[in-house]
Amino acid sequence: MLNTLIARTLPMVPKSVVHFAAKKYVAGDTLEDAVRLVRSLNEKLITGTMDFLGEFVTDRKQAEFAAHMGHEILEAIHAHKLRSGLSVKLTCLGLDIDDEFCYENLRSLVFKAKELDLFVRVDMENSPYTTRTLALYRRILEEGFDNTGVVLQAYMRRSEQDIKSLAGLKAPVRLCKGIYREDPAIAFKDREEIRENYKRLLTLLFENGMHAAIATHDDPLLDFAREYIAKNSISKDRYEFQMLLGVRENKRDELVREGHKLRTYVPFGSDWYGYSIRRLKENPEVAGHIMKAFLKGE
Ligand SMILES: Cc1cc2nc3c(=O)[nH]c(=O)nc-3n(C[C@H](O)[C@H](O)[C@H](O)COP(=O)(O)OP(=O)(O)OC[C@H]3O[C@@H](n4cnc5c(N)ncnc54)[C@H](O)[C@@H]3O)c2cc1C
Repeated sequence: MLNTLIARTLPMVPKSVVHFAAKKYVAGDTLEDAVRLVRSLNEKLITGTMDFLGEFVTDRKQAEFAAHMGHEILEAIHAHKLRSGLSVKLTCLGLDIDDEFCYENLRSLVFKAKELDLFVRVDMENSPYTTRTLALYRRILEEGFDNTGVVLQAYMRRSEQDIKSLAGLKAPVRLCKGIYREDPAIAFKDREEIRENYKRLLTLLFENGMHAAIATHDDPLLDFAREYIAKNSISKDRYEFQMLLGVRENKRDELVREGHKLRTYVPFGSDWYGYSIRRLKENPEVAGHIMKAFLKGE
């Protein structure tokens, strides 16, 4: 409880203090750092999805740079023969600037990825962007690209409807709980309610023959997924598990040993702060250690 309160005050702690705890969630500042990390994951039979950190970009040049970095990532994956895809946030590609501009940035990445036989996942951000993210994603699918997937959040009340409307397009969906602060009018808030919705949505994905990326570290959900997969003989080409870099590595390795496909989300870049604060808030124990170090002047 105390640590949870501390976690909420983290934004007041200087960046330099947060940095030492945040490091484990981020591959490093450069693409070379991310390449090195994904290579080490591949050696453990784990695939990656690389993300150049940044979000809520309002400067056109910055969004163009993010798109350029996306291209660099795809080329690096290809050149180094890595088993990895690319994850992108649409506000990083200019969704706050202009939808059409953002679409062109996204399209050029999916096009390039298609040429290289690679996959692009469109992350889901907070609710003001949900409808527009899905609209741009749908446009990409309707253009005929089959190398791209999207993310839906189990805490959002609308997600069931979103799955149903994407089912006809056989869209690959990464299902996560959701990380942003949302209003109870549009989002489930209770931990158990979110879990129950996650189970319902995962079942719906499988029943609709959609590819499911099961993005969670939560034991009851992992157990539910494993049981469902075994009971319904879901083949390996229809699902994978996904985890975040630096989170529950023992569990990750256990899933790999059991023979499941496992992908790790590998963020990198100097814009690590917002991403890491969200991760630290999910891990109040570490947040407590940071605050103690800060107060002791370490
Ligand atoms: C691959 C991937 C991609 C994602 N993409 C998105 C996205 O596009 N949009 C979005 O809104 N959210 C995204 N998320 C985040 C997600 O919504 C959750 O916030 C996050 O995964 C934590 O939820 P959980 O299901 O693991 O359950 P939780 O109940 O939060 O965690 C279960 C257990 O995992 C461990 N754990 C969880 N987080 C941490 C941490 N940071 N540090 C240490 N231990 C931890 C703890 O032991 C905890 O008890 C993504 C998550 C993953 C795994």
